Amino acid sequence: LFSNLGLNFIMKKKVLISACLLGKNCRYNGGHSKLTELEEIDMEWISVCPEESGGLGTPRPSAEMQENAETILNGKGKIITNKGKNVTSEFIQGAEKSLQLGLGAEVKIAVLKSKSPSCGIGKIYDGSFTKSLKTGNGIFAHLCHENDIACISSDNINRIKKTLAKLK
Ligand code: SF4
Repeated sequence: LFSNLGLNFIMKKKVLISACLLGKNCRYNGGHSKLTELEEIDMEWISVCPEESGGLGTPRPSAEMQENAETILNGKGKIITNKGKNVTSEFIQGAEKSLQLGLGAEVKIAVLKSKSPSCGIGKIYDGSFTKSLKTGNGIFAHLCHENDIACISSDNINRIKKTLAKLK
């Protein structure tokens, strides 16, 4: 028991994260969204890219949700690319796989890329491919929330720092 307690003490806290925020070139356009401020935060990052996990290659056409996450997950809405292709099942499969990784690692917090139809929190593109935003969460962010993983958006670096500092 004593050694187990010691091990827990030195183990880093695990936090789920959108892979593009760590600099992985997995965005639809082949680029990344690296948050350099994360380099100074000492965490064990569980890095996921739901869209790649769903079998969508990189680069890939951009895609936007046509309805909200709950409706799409209930089979009554879809996600389409800017070329009109339905990629709903790839998005859902990738989000579920990524969620399982997070649950398997027992994470309680996720740092997710803003505005994405997978990872966005609070605001996402509105489905018109005109760079307009609407209220809502991406598919993966919604699943995290439903599974009691607290999500923090990448556009709120102060909240990320404060929340992760309390984890230690
Ligand atoms: Fe992948 Fe999410 Fe980053 Fe999009 S926002 S590239 S799905 S990790």
